[in-house]
This record gives sequence, C-alpha cells and structure tokens, in this order.
Amino acid sequence: MSALSLEPYGWDAFFAEAFAPHARAGLMPGRVLLQHNKIYLVCTRQGEIYAEVTGRVLHEARGREDLPAVGDWVALRPAGGEGRRATIHAVLPRKSKFSRKAAGSRTEEQVVAANVDTVFLVAGLDNDFNPRRLERYLIMSHESGARPVVVLNKADLAEDLEEKVREVERIAPGVPVVLMSARRGEGVERLLPFIWTGQTVALMGSSGVGKSTIVNRLLGDEAQRTQEVRSGDDRGKHTTTHRELILLPGGGLVMDTPGMRELQLLVSDRGLRETFDDVETLAAECRFSDCRHEGEPGCRIREALADGTLAAARFESYRKMLAEMAQAAVRQEQRAAQVEKGRVKRLTRAYNKSKKRY
Ligand code: GDP
Ligand code: ZN
Repeated sequence: MSALSLEPYGWDAFFAEAFAPHARAGLMPGRVLLQHNKIYLVCTRQGEIYAEVTGRVLHEARGREDLPAVGDWVALRPAGGEGRRATIHAVLPRKSKFSRKAAGSRTEEQVVAANVDTVFLVAGLDNDFNPRRLERYLIMSHESGARPVVVLNKADLAEDLEEKVREVERIAPGVPVVLMSARRGEGVERLLPFIWTGQTVALMGSSGVGKSTIVNRLLGDEAQRTQEVRSGDDRGKHTTTHRELILLPGGGLVMDTPGMRELQLLVSDRGLRETFDDVETLAAECRFSDCRHEGEPGCRIREALADGTLAAARFESYRKMLAEMAQAAVRQEQRAAQVEKGRVKRLTRAYNKSKKRY
C-alpha cells in the first residue's frame, strides 16, 4: 500500500523533529481529525484510523490539557489484530492551542483546538457589530498562539462601512482586515491568501455572524452536499460522522469544533498586553509606576486622551477588561478555596472513621 502524504495535513519540519524519538520507538505519526469521548479519529500515512490513548498516557497526564485534542499530532502504535484500535503513546508539542475551562466547578483547562495557524475573527457588519467583543476574541487569539485575521462579514448590510473598518484598525493595529459578504459570495477570495496547503485555519466569532456560511463557501458546494448527506444515519439518529478538521478542496484545512464555538473567555496578562499594546506602552511612560491615570501628575494616558492619540472608548474598554480580569481572578481563588475546603472535610471524615475502627 502506498503511503499517504501528511504534508497536506500540516506535517512539517517542526513536527518531524518532535516526532524523531517516537519514530525510533517504532511509532507512527498522525493528526487528530475528530474526538468522541475517549475515541479519536486520526489521519495517518496508512489512512484514517480510530485510536485510544494508552493507560500510561492517561496516568501521566497532569490534566485534560495533556490529552490529545482535535488538531493534535500524536505518536501511534498501529492496531495489532482485526477490529482493534490503534493506541496513542504521545502528544507532540503544540504550535498553538485554544482552551476553555472544563465543565463543572473545577478550573481545569481543556484544549478544544490544537495547532491552528490562523484564526479568522468573524464579526458581522450589521447592527450587531460590537468592537468590545472583537477585542475579547483578539485576546483569545493572541493567547492561543494562532495568527489573527479580522473578517468583517455581511458587508452587504453595513451602513458606515469605512468608519467601522477604521474602528477595527484602531482596535487591532497590524492585524489584517478582510471585508466580505459570505451570503452573496463576495470577497471569499480575500481569505485565500491566508489559507494554503498544510495551513490550519479556524473561525471564531459570536453566533450568527456567518461562520458556517463562510466555511461552506470555502468547502464549495460539493463538500457541502456531502456534509448534508452525512448528517444523519439510517436509523434517523444524528451522528457526528463529519470531521472536525476538514481538508479544503483548494488546499489547507479548516477547524470546526463545537468547543471552538462555545469558547469561554480565558483572559490572561499576556493576551491583554498584546491586544492593548498601545495603552500599555503609554501607561509604562507615566511618571509613577503605580499611576491610576486619574489625574496624577505626569500621566501619559491623560495626555494622550487629551490630545486625541488615545481614544476614550479604547481606554474605557481597557479599564473594563482589567476590572473583569480582577473579578475572574477573585472567583478563581474562591473556587480553589472551596475545593480545598471539600478536600479537608473528606480527609477529616475519613480520619474520624478510621479512628472509630480502632
Ligand atoms: P454562524 O452562527 O456564525 O455560523 O452564522 P451562520 O453562517 O449560520 O449565519 C447566520 C445568518 O446570517 C444566516 O441566516 C446567514 O444566511 C446570514 N449571513 C451569513 N453571511 C451573510 C452575509 O454576508 N450577509 C448577510 N446579509 N447575511 C449573511
Ligand atoms: Zn497614568
């Protein structure tokens, strides 16, 4: 059997180098296309196979973030006999990752998409256009390690188009901006310079901004039909037979996972700093390092606000973001304290029980 090339799936020198020790151990590389609980659909040189992680990988994982996610490159041992699943022995280092907190009260990290190269931050240019939301998505993409591209969709509905584009350029200096109308099929070609063979793109944005419409445009009509046929099985039950990492007909891959769609904001200092680089740079120039920018002498922020180099709205969203982050940190601490309290309670109970026995 002739081996499939993994390059269209994003295999490159980075992953080849990381994989080298596993190759010596007789394992083969593959990329996760779909995850269903503990079962993974993995694309390998021998085609698509189902796989499970080994007990050892499970055991050694420090948390869910150490387990494979869609988009991950993994080291596999092929299935031995008929009907058996391959085993995943390692997850290769990630170039980028999108995470969210796992369901429940614990603040455990769960990776919902790995190794995304470029993320399209989609916003609708209709009434729902919200610059603050775009800032949040920018923070997430900076955190992930993927390169952001702002996609302004529904250009057909936009009223003050130029003003909105200028606003986005203020929010996201240096980030490419693409204008399009997915419904009309206009501007789809402007996305193509960001998608080439082996490149993985993902879409992020609020519900209703047109992400599915854009994906369908990229897939083309034929793929769209196939997806429709596949969306239900013969027993009428809905099954997820489609891949969440999809090869595009023109080269490149698009990541479309449910997790990406329900991503929560996981803000961190790094993401904030990069998104509000201009504000942070000004703040660093204030005379006092603990300047609250509330009228202290030598405040660069006040100066910039006065001469118009810093927009009041932008500074306001920076402040709001800082306040939200502080709140999130408090909540996280409270949760951690609660978990600790529960642990102490359980330990005490176990201890008291053991005392009774003796
Ligand atoms: P998603 O929730 O982000 O995946 O959004 P959808 O792709 O499902 O689109 C939501 C709605 O917006 C649908 O009714 C689409 O037909 C519509 N839509 C998508 N793109 C455009 C566009 O460029 N212009 C207009 N006017 N409507 C669009
Ligand atoms: Zn200041």
